[in-house]
Amino acid sequence: MFIGHFAVGFGAKAARPAISLGTLFLASQLLDLLWPTFLLLGLEEVSIQPGTTQVTPLDFTHYPISHSLLVVMGWSLLAGGLYWLLRKNRAEAIVVGLCVLSHWLLDVIMHQPDLPLYPGDSPRMGLGLWNSLVGSMVVEVSLFVAGVVVYARSTTATD
Ligand SMILES: [Zn+2]
Repeated sequence: MFIGHFAVGFGAKAARPAISLGTLFLASQLLDLLWPTFLLLGLEEVSIQPGTTQVTPLDFTHYPISHSLLVVMGWSLLAGGLYWLLRKNRAEAIVVGLCVLSHWLLDVIMHQPDLPLYPGDSPRMGLGLWNSLVGSMVVEVSLFVAGVVVYARSTTATD
C-alpha cells in the first residue's frame, strides 16, 4: 500500500488531536522508511520482476526486519514506548504504536503472499490486491479520501 497508509494518520489525528500529524504519518509509514535502509545495509532483499503484479514490479523476496509481523510488533512497541518517554501520555503512545502496526495489516491486503509472520522459515501473508490495478486504485484512493475527510471534519483552520 502507498497513500492509503496516510489515511491511518489522518484518522488517528482526528481521534487524538494532541499528537502531531507528522508523528502519525511517520508512525504509519515507519516500516517503509526502515525498508530502504535495511536494503542499503544488505539486510533485506528485493528484486525487480516486471509483471510480478499489475501495480509494482517489486518482488519482496526477503524483508523480515521491516515487514515481518513479529518484528513489526516490536517496532510498534518501540515507537509507542519512545512516544511515551517523550510525552508521558499512555493513550497517545498506544495510538502511535497502533499506527505502526496498521501498516502491516494494510500491506497484507495489497501484497502478494510475501509478508512473513516472523523472521526465518515463516508462512507468508498477502491477499494480492496489487494483482488488480483498478482494485488497488479504488482501495488506495478511497482510504486516502476517507482519511482526509475525517481529518478535515475534525479540525478548523486557525486563520
Ligand atoms: Zn510496507
